[in-house]
Amino acid sequence: MNFKNTVLVAIAAIFMISCAETKKEEMKALKYVDEPHSYAQPNEAVITHLNLDIDVNFDKEVISGTASYDITNNNEATEIILDAKNLVIENVQADGKDTKFSLGTYNESLGQSLNITIAKDTKKITVFYQTTDKTEAVQWLNPQQTQDKTQPFLFTQGQAILTRTWIPIQDSPQIRITYDATVRVPKELMAVMSAENPKVKSENGEYHFKMAQKIPPYLMALAVGDIAYKAVSNRTGIYAENSMVDVVHEEFSEMEKMVVEAEKLYGKYAWDQFDVIVLPPSFPFGGMENPRLTFATPTLIAGDKSLTSVIAHELAHSWSGNLVTNATWDDFWLNEGFTVYFENRIMEALYGKERADMLGLIARQDLDEEVEGFKDAPENTHLKLDLSKRNPDDGMTSIAYDKGFMFLKTLEGIAGRENFDVFLKNYFQGHAFSTMTTEKFIKYLNENLLEKHNLSFNTDEWVYNPGVPSNAFEIKSDKFENVSNTLKSIVETNKVDASVVKDWTTQEWVYFIRNFPEDITPAQMAIIDNAFDLTNSTNSHKAMVWYEQAIIHNYKGNNVDTKIEEFLIRVGRRWYVSTLYKAFAKAGKTDEGLAIYKKARANYHSVTMNTVDETLGYKE
Ligand SMILES: [Zn+2]
Repeated sequence: MNFKNTVLVAIAAIFMISCAETKKEEMKALKYVDEPHSYAQPNEAVITHLNLDIDVNFDKEVISGTASYDITNNNEATEIILDAKNLVIENVQADGKDTKFSLGTYNESLGQSLNITIAKDTKKITVFYQTTDKTEAVQWLNPQQTQDKTQPFLFTQGQAILTRTWIPIQDSPQIRITYDATVRVPKELMAVMSAENPKVKSENGEYHFKMAQKIPPYLMALAVGDIAYKAVSNRTGIYAENSMVDVVHEEFSEMEKMVVEAEKLYGKYAWDQFDVIVLPPSFPFGGMENPRLTFATPTLIAGDKSLTSVIAHELAHSWSGNLVTNATWDDFWLNEGFTVYFENRIMEALYGKERADMLGLIARQDLDEEVEGFKDAPENTHLKLDLSKRNPDDGMTSIAYDKGFMFLKTLEGIAGRENFDVFLKNYFQGHAFSTMTTEKFIKYLNENLLEKHNLSFNTDEWVYNPGVPSNAFEIKSDKFENVSNTLKSIVETNKVDASVVKDWTTQEWVYFIRNFPEDITPAQMAIIDNAFDLTNSTNSHKAMVWYEQAIIHNYKGNNVDTKIEEFLIRVGRRWYVSTLYKAFAKAGKTDEGLAIYKKARANYHSVTMNTVDETLGYKE
């Protein structure tokens, strides 16, 4: 946004005519970079601590209350600017007295600036507000949309720029705050946040929270439901709806081991507690790394711990993302690429190299498909993006995740694992609780890895050019070789030897299904389905990739169409449902996809809706 540059130029001009000493101090104070997805001007005045006091009203579907901030006025500013989107701002106070405020022009993705008049010495501002029916972060679920079907449920999703839709805030990833919160909910329900959490329900429905470590605003999170807690170890545990507590506890029983292995790699876990809450199936992501309390989709519950790499992923974010945070959404690969790499290392430590290589090869395959999909817009395949005129969600593609992963995997190959681990550990510890731009990272990489060990590396090609450079580390997997041979033999002979697949992991199944030849026939798919009952798989990932192939190759056996429709109505995980809607579009069956979407859409969170609306060209 250009208006920010204008302000900075104006500030610079004022200081040019002021004394040189002041200028030097001012330049030093410019701690924050220009960030196009927030109206905040943190170099002027910045929030440092939030005290949130809210009521959660399920009858009206409204959150209302106050957001009070401790602020620091960096530049004798006369106003502080927050971000707000589709909120009703009732009143604002500065140090306990009413003060002037105004809302700026509404922008479809950014919302509005909330300009609040302050004095040079104002220490605290308080915003009285409530949410509206357009509040995108929050999904209000009726009892029918939960597992137990007796009580309503609510959860929030803040990343990338949705926290401003439920709390007026300076919603930029380079700003960090601590927070306290008081949350009142119906007394049958428990509230949990990305903070120190209750382990049992309170008597009156009032809960108090404290987050002592500084977090970026996109990690503000709240869930409210009829849930219970069960510890896995003294610092890990799970929350879930009552009927799911034991199943979830069993599925995630290795959480403590994951934390131990992660700490061995890159240093102490900085957030004290690591819990996971399993939400109703409309949760739009596999997991969200809200600090101290990862939010997760129930589609991870496979019954055999085979999909827990997502938990390793969210845990890894406790270092990459939550501890060292991308300064802007253009630098999102610093959050996600590092996390996929770290996730892969945790999985290797727990389950061995074979499992890690399979996950790595799947990532590589996802990456190649994404690069192919962007062949008409190759700038989307740069690691460092320019999302200044776009919604930051546009950067949530396989590029940030899997090209970022391949970049680090390739560097590891060149530097050697030992050197690379020392480098990464120092990187995380040296930048704890701070933010990182791509440029700052490259400088750090040059000084602390490449020059130190006399290595040359095509960093710029990886970061600023499209596609995947030719020196990308080659991941090999014997297991996947076997899978490919099995598939080839089935397709050639139309015969299945079921014993071959006896010990296959989910990763092998996914690889098998996703690599069907383009000319596979419905008859061949029937042979496979009759042997392995894929249409009725209770493993959601296996089922999803199978349904994708069924849609593309017109397979109709075993009532698969009904299963696909049920799946799309029940599950709201964006990756899964958008893959299936894309398959409808790819197969020239957009109308079929739309017919299901019309029934399913009301069950989806706004981030899933936005993506699928675009895939299917849906308009309300
Ligand atoms: Zn992630």
